[in-house]
Amino acid sequence: MTDDRCPLCRLDEASALWANEQCLVIPAEVAGLGTICRVIWRGHVREMGDLSTGERRALMDIVFAVETAVRDCARPAKMNLASLGNLVPHLHWHIIPRYQNDAYFPDAIWAAARRPGAHYPLSDERLRAALRAALGPPGKPRL
Ligand SMILES: [Zn+2]
Repeated sequence: MTDDRCPLCRLDEASALWANEQCLVIPAEVAGLGTICRVIWRGHVREMGDLSTGERRALMDIVFAVETAVRDCARPAKMNLASLGNLVPHLHWHIIPRYQNDAYFPDAIWAAARRPGAHYPLSDERLRAALRAALGPPGKPRL
């Protein structure tokens, strides 16, 4: 199920660091912070509760594996995991490495910046290798 008006339904799969039949892992840059990852459920559903039990488990297995991969690459002070979707109501998770000198710390990254903030970019190549180590090769179904 897709929605033509939804930006997450229209993502370019070529930008994914890892993908399978259910999810895409997409990097994003946040000013004053650096690289984060988003795990995006392919179907246009609004809430975790819209998934079957098996789908929820499969999604969270991927979210936690991406957390491990980003943590291994970034060596942050803390990891934040968030599923909001208030502006884009298509189920997705944000996997966010946090640093004591990022612009928002210790607030959520959607809060007002407290300082200019250091920027910690992660290379796509390094993230792809870490995701492959954590999740296996792209395209392998998780159910
Ligand atoms: Zn959508």
